[in-house]
Amino acid sequence: MKVAVVGAGVIGSAIAWRLAQRGTEVLLVDSGQPGEATSRCSFAWANASSVEDPAYFALREHGLRELKGLADHLGTRWVLATGHLRWAAAEADSAKLRGRVAALAARGYPAEIVTARHANDAIEPHVRFPDPHHPVAHFPTEPSIDAPRLAKQLTSLAVAHGATALLGRPVKAVGVNRTRITDVTVGATSYPVDAVVNAAGPHSDLVAKMIGRELRLIEEPGLVARLRCTTAPVRQAMHAPCVEIRVDGRHKVLIHSRIVDNKLGPTGYAQPSHIEELRSLAGEVVPELADAEPADARVGWRPIPWDGFPSLGSAAGVHGYYEAVTHSGVTLCAIVGLLLADEILTDAKHPLLAPFRPDRSDHTTQAPSSPPLPL
Ligand SMILES: Cc1cc2nc3c(=O)[nH]c(=O)nc-3n(C[C@H](O)[C@H](O)[C@H](O)COP(=O)(O)OP(=O)(O)OC[C@H]3O[C@@H](n4cnc5c(N)ncnc54)[C@H](O)[C@@H]3O)c2cc1C
Repeated sequence: MKVAVVGAGVIGSAIAWRLAQRGTEVLLVDSGQPGEATSRCSFAWANASSVEDPAYFALREHGLRELKGLADHLGTRWVLATGHLRWAAAEADSAKLRGRVAALAARGYPAEIVTARHANDAIEPHVRFPDPHHPVAHFPTEPSIDAPRLAKQLTSLAVAHGATALLGRPVKAVGVNRTRITDVTVGATSYPVDAVVNAAGPHSDLVAKMIGRELRLIEEPGLVARLRCTTAPVRQAMHAPCVEIRVDGRHKVLIHSRIVDNKLGPTGYAQPSHIEELRSLAGEVVPELADAEPADARVGWRPIPWDGFPSLGSAAGVHGYYEAVTHSGVTLCAIVGLLLADEILTDAKHPLLAPFRPDRSDHTTQAPSSPPLPL
C-alpha cells in the first residue's frame, strides 16, 4: 500500500511515522519544512483540562497518555517543561476554576488548588500573583512541547523507516478515478498512491477541495511572540487572566494572549503595537519580561473544523481519502498518529474517533456545567 501524507506538521509527521513503522510505503509532502507552519506558532501546551465535552476530553486524555508514551520511547528533547498553572482575576471566575479543578480531580485527572504563596515558593518564584492567598490551579502533568522539534524528529524517523519526504514542494492536485484516490501531483510529477491523508493544517480546506470535498474551517489567527532572556524567568506554562506564558528553552519565553488575538482582525495582520501590548501584558505577570527583547513574533491560523471539533478519519464518497485536521494538534498528535495509521492499514474505526468523523453533522456537545476554559 502506498500512502501520501500531505503536511509534515505535528499531525502529518506523526501519521507518516506510524505508517512507515508498520512497513507502509509513505510519501510525506510539505510545501515548507516539518513543523514550521502552525506547529511553530503554537502555545503548544498539551492538556485535557481546557475542555468539558466528554468525548473530546476522553480523546485528549488518551492523547496525553500517548504523548507521554512517545516521550518515553523517543526521548524527551521536545518536552520543554511539565506542569501548568492557571488563575483568574474575578472572584466569580476563581470560584468556577475551583469547581473545575474539583471535577477534574474527582475524575482522577492530576489537578489541585494551591495558594499563590505556595506557587511562588515551590514552582514559579518570579510570577506576580494578585495576593499570597490567591487560589491557583496547578496541573502538574501537563507538558509544553517543542512542536517543530517533535515534527522534525518524527519526519526523520519516518524517513529512517523508508518514507520518502518531499519538502519545500506543495501538493498541487489529488487524482481521483470515480470514487478512488489514484495519485498526487507534486511539481510536474504525478505519484501513484492508494490513499491520501490530508494533514495540511489551516490549508486542509484547499487540499479537500482537490477531491471536490468542502471542508469548512473556522478562521482564527493567533499571535505568539518569543522573548529573549538571559535566563528564562518561568519554569513551565501558565494561563494568567490576560496572557499565557511558557518557557521556550533556557533563554526564551513564549507569550500569547486572546485579548491581542481578538485585535488582529480577519486578515491576521500583526502590527508592532500588538507585540508591544503582548509584552506589556506578560510584564505585568513576570516583571523580568517587561523589557525582554522579542526574538520573533508570528501569526498562526488555528486549524479548526466547522463545529470547533477535530475532523479525523476516512470520508465517505472517495475511497482512500483521510482527514486529520484539528485544533489542539499538539495535544492530539500522538493519538491521532496511532489511530489514523491503524484505520488506514486495517480499516479499523476506533470508537474514540466516532464523534469526530469527517462525515458527521455538527458534533453535539453534552451541555457543559460551565463554559470551557480558553486554549
Ligand atoms: C496561537 C496558537 C496557539 C495554540 N495553542 C495550542 C496549545 O496550547 N495546545 C495545542 O494542543 N494546540 C495549540 N494550537 C493548535 C496547534 O498548534 C495546531 O493544532 C497544530 O500545530 C496543527 O498541526 P498540523 O500538523 O495539523 O498543522 P501545521 O503545523 O500547520 O502543518 C501543516 C503542514 O502542511 C503543509 N501544507 C499545507 N498545504 C500543503 C500542500 N498543498 N502541499 C504540501 N504541504 C502543505 C504546511 O506547509 C504545513 O507544514 C495553537 C495554535 C495557535 C495558532
